[in-house]
Parts: sequence; structure tokens; C-alpha cells
Amino acid sequence: MTAAVITGVTGQDGSYLAELLLAKGYRVVGLTRDVGRGAGAIPLSLRGRIELHAWDPRDQAGIIECLGKLRPDEIYNLAAHSSGAGMYDDPVDMAEVNGVAVTRLLDAIRRVDPTIRFCQASSREIFGNAEESPQTELTPRNPRSPYGAAKLYADCMIQQFRERYGIHASSAILFNHESPRRGEGFVTRKITQAAARIKLGLAHELRLGNLDAQRDWGYAADYMRAMWLMQQQDAADDYVIATGESHTVREFCELSFARLGLDYRDYVREDAAVFRPAEPYPLVGSAAKAHKNLGWRPELGFQELVYAMVDADMKALQSETRGVKSR
Ligand code: NAP
Repeated sequence: MTAAVITGVTGQDGSYLAELLLAKGYRVVGLTRDVGRGAGAIPLSLRGRIELHAWDPRDQAGIIECLGKLRPDEIYNLAAHSSGAGMYDDPVDMAEVNGVAVTRLLDAIRRVDPTIRFCQASSREIFGNAEESPQTELTPRNPRSPYGAAKLYADCMIQQFRERYGIHASSAILFNHESPRRGEGFVTRKITQAAARIKLGLAHELRLGNLDAQRDWGYAADYMRAMWLMQQQDAADDYVIATGESHTVREFCELSFARLGLDYRDYVREDAAVFRPAEPYPLVGSAAKAHKNLGWRPELGFQELVYAMVDADMKALQSETRGVKSR
């Protein structure tokens, strides 16, 4: 049985990847900083079906011991400080977790078993203020945040371990990807939750930054399928994973509210306090290399993604409010 280790298994992507690997017959081990909290955080679909182990991405000896015990065939590194608000709060720990921890994992692979395959969740934040659009694997790196800088360092180390030690290590340069399991601090989830709250009379308006900001939004489960495909290739390589379509925050609002029979213009306000000017070049990725080499294509379209998120938030809120009323 193929065994996989997923760091950050309790997050959005971890849950979709674990579901995919279980469906493929893998033994799945998730690493989390807190097993008790992690067991409660994973979706019901995974409970009792994956093993959870504690780890500390800052503990080199602990990582070596952990891999020595688990002996996985594949590692997926999804654990990271997130890119949203707060990414400037602790740049040192950002470098530790999003950057140096990758070197720790790679070095542990080198020592324990260099045949273990490794795939990293990198980010379009490595392009920062991109100098061209769409962004590809060849676009110059220009990170503009501690998050992007740490992810770029990790990518450089992956390339070095691949070239120097022949380790099958790859980096997936992921553009934004969403789902009903997206963290509540991210703009997409703020919109879908607010639309559901407003529909149910629990809120009256939503304040957002620049409604004309454009993003390339895909579906998390599609992006995890791409990472799995990367691990199955004879040669490790880095790939941009993106839809190639860019949509504005305004379009996201329009579809979300329309799904519930509402007009977003009646509820959404642009807030100058959180307004960020649009990027000089649209943040949109070209996954042409992944199409060609991996045969990967996103399956869920933009509108279906938005609707799935709104429907899930509506359902969750309705059962929450029913629960409150019946108490
Ligand atoms: P997520 O929901 O925030 O989950 C990330 C997981 O990382 C958490 O469940 C947490 O697991 C762990 N983690 C968080 N802070 C940590 C810290 N300080 N130290 C150690 N572990 C920490 O993220 P996601 O959306 O699933 O994203 C997965 C990966 O893809 C991340 O590496 C992210 O940077 C990358 N990525 C995501 C996107 C996107 O649009 N979602 C785009 C580009 C790249 P425990 O609490 O269980 O330890």
C-alpha cells in the first residue's frame, strides 16, 4: 500500500488531498501541530480514516525521527503560515515555517530515504508584483511579502536538493484556490458567508477593499489532483497550477449575491481603509506546462465554484440558526 504524509492536513487543501489519496487506496498520515485539535478540525469524511501525528516544523531531529518511523512513499508539504492578513506579523517565524521547514523536510528525506518523493505547495506570491501576465514557470520572481520570500527560498532549496541529491522534489506554484472549506479570513469566504448572512437577515452590509482587484481563482480539490499528478511523474519538476482565467472581486460578489436572489450593489461597500490599488499586471497563471506534461485541467468552473461556496455557507447557517431557535 502506498503511504503518504501530508503536513497541514487540517487545512483546506489537506482535507481534499487526504480524500483523494484515500480514494486511491493510500495509507494517509497527517502531521499537525496539535493532534487533539486536529482530530476535531478535519472533516467527518476523514475521521478514523487517516492517522494523525504531532510534529513541529522547527524541530529537525523530530522530523528525521518521524520520517524514520513512518517511511512514507510520498510527502506533501501543505503546512504554512497563511498569506492573508497577518502575514507581516512575525517575519522570522514566517521564514521558519514557510521556508526553512522545507529544507528540514528535504534534509530528513536525504538522510532517512532519498527515494521518498516530495511535493511543495508554493504560491503565486513568489511573483509578487509580476512583470508579465500570464505568469508561467519562467516569469521572474519578485516577491513582495515575507510569505512570498519564504516560499521562494523553499523553491530554491527544492531545486538544489533535486539537482544535487537526485531527490524527486517538486514545487506546485499554486494560484488562489477556494472551496467551501476555505478559511474564513479570505475574501472569497467573507463574501459567500456575508451573502448568506444577509439573505437570512443576520447582517446588512459587507465592507471590502478594491472590488476591481482581479484574481485567478480555482477549486482546491482540482489543485490537489495536480499535486498528486506531479508526484507520479518519472521526473520531478515545478509547475504553475492555475485556471488561466481572471475574475474581479466584483464578479465574485455579483454571482454570490445573485445565487441568493440578491443584488450585491445593495449591500457591498468599498472601504477606503482596506483599499489596495490593482496590480500593474493581472495576477493570472498559465498552466500550459501542467496541461501538456501532466494532462491536468481544472474541472470546476468559476461560477460553479462560487455557487458551491454560497450553497454550503447557506446550508451551514440555516442549520445553525435552526439549532439556536430550537434551544
Ligand atoms: P490552510 O487552510 O491555512 O492550512 C494550512 C495548515 O498549515 C493549517 O491547517 C495548519 O495545520 C498549518 N499551519 C498553519 N500555521 C502554521 C504554523 N505557524 N506552523 C506550522 N503549521 C502551520 O491553508 P490551505 O489554503 O490549505 O493551503 C495549503 C498550502 O497551500 C499552504 O502551504 C499555502 O501556503 C499554499 N497555498 C495556498 C493557496 C490558496 O489559495 N489556498 C494559494 C497558494 C499557496 P495544523 O494547525 O494542523 O498544524
